[in-house]
Amino acid sequence: MNELLNRELAEFLSESPTAFHAVSNIRTVLENEGYTELCEADEWHLAENGKYFTVRNGSSVIAFRYPGKNYTGFMIGASHSDSPAFKLKPNPETDSAGVTRLNVEGYGGMLCAPWFDRPLSVAGRLMVDCGDHMDTKLVKIDEDLCMIPNLAIHMNRDANKGHAYNIQKELLPVIKLAGEGKDWMTYLSEKTGIAKEKILASDLFLYPRTAPSVWGMNHEFLSAPHLDDLQCAFGNLKGFLAASPADSCAVYAVFDNEEVGSGTKQGADSEFLKDILERIAESSGKSSSRHKADLANSFMVSADNAHAVHPNYADLSDPTNHPAINKGIVIKHNANQKYTTDAVSAAFFKKICEIAKVPFQEFVNRSDLAGGSTLGNISTAHVSVNCVDIGLPQWAMHSPYETAGTEDTESLVKAMKVFFSSSMKDLGNGNYRIHTDCDKMK
Ligand code: ZN
Repeated sequence: MNELLNRELAEFLSESPTAFHAVSNIRTVLENEGYTELCEADEWHLAENGKYFTVRNGSSVIAFRYPGKNYTGFMIGASHSDSPAFKLKPNPETDSAGVTRLNVEGYGGMLCAPWFDRPLSVAGRLMVDCGDHMDTKLVKIDEDLCMIPNLAIHMNRDANKGHAYNIQKELLPVIKLAGEGKDWMTYLSEKTGIAKEKILASDLFLYPRTAPSVWGMNHEFLSAPHLDDLQCAFGNLKGFLAASPADSCAVYAVFDNEEVGSGTKQGADSEFLKDILERIAESSGKSSSRHKADLANSFMVSADNAHAVHPNYADLSDPTNHPAINKGIVIKHNANQKYTTDAVSAAFFKKICEIAKVPFQEFVNRSDLAGGSTLGNISTAHVSVNCVDIGLPQWAMHSPYETAGTEDTESLVKAMKVFFSSSMKDLGNGNYRIHTDCDKMK
């Protein structure tokens, strides 16, 4: 396995307890690689061979390499920045049985059970009153702050026989003994150095404190919070940065709010991607017709983690398409098009994997299981390009501590490097040409 890459991924996961932190860390990487941030509130003027990115809401980011006004289409790699978690409500302190708990609600569809009995803390963003303006400040309380203690087996003899969790009743974390020490806002103010009367509003989430771990007799596995989908956001970014210049415009996109349906201004079900592609076309002096022709010569890889066959529940996987950990990138199929993959896009992506010399495998749900959804078909409803849904195989999706393989991230990096170095042409009549500048590939 590539130790350095896994270490970098583990560090990125540790430093990204929320979507705001993930995008902030991606922004730092892009800046260090010479990318210029464009503000959505300004007019844009792009320079040939320019490298740019823009951030929406602090939690979604789109970066692109602009080859000049004669680019032939867009090669788009998308993933998502958010993960299921618990969000603090306003006025979160609530006392019960001599302790103070934080009042939280669920964000997205999480596995509740593994949130119990593990150290947790709080991270997110604050809006700060600065007089004539207001600023965003990221917060990551870097200490074991709270815990959701389980009920003893002696008080619930049926605990191991299946349980329907009530978030309001059972998932509120304990932060202190009631009536003792400082209150929550004073604590938050001390931890952030911001006077509490200056804190106008917040988006704060619980996050698991357990550090990422590489484990197994041969170091096969990586467990960490947020593998879905920061493993893909990380792998796509590495591939994007390593790619060679191509005739097409390489576009790296990370959207927030996939776990709650993508329907926000910064989600995949917004005009964010469409807006950016149109602004690139406008800066190039392209007609609307030329832009639409470019979209026909564009391709999107929607990368969101996939289910690996589970050793204890192998019967829940499809009998002939059950991806395994460390066996390569997963191409996801669904007849009802919850995944966008079709013969054209699967074929295209398989060619990319072949050029990159990385393994791929295929996933379909059992026909009697509904499965999940992702951002590919939501995004292509706005920007209608050929699209393939892929992911890296993992266990325990939507647990606060998920498990993936230590080999698969590198496969994604290599494949996306080839993808972002490629261009595609729709020749009509179901024929397509892929051009990859293989000479420039290492
Ligand atoms: Zn996901």
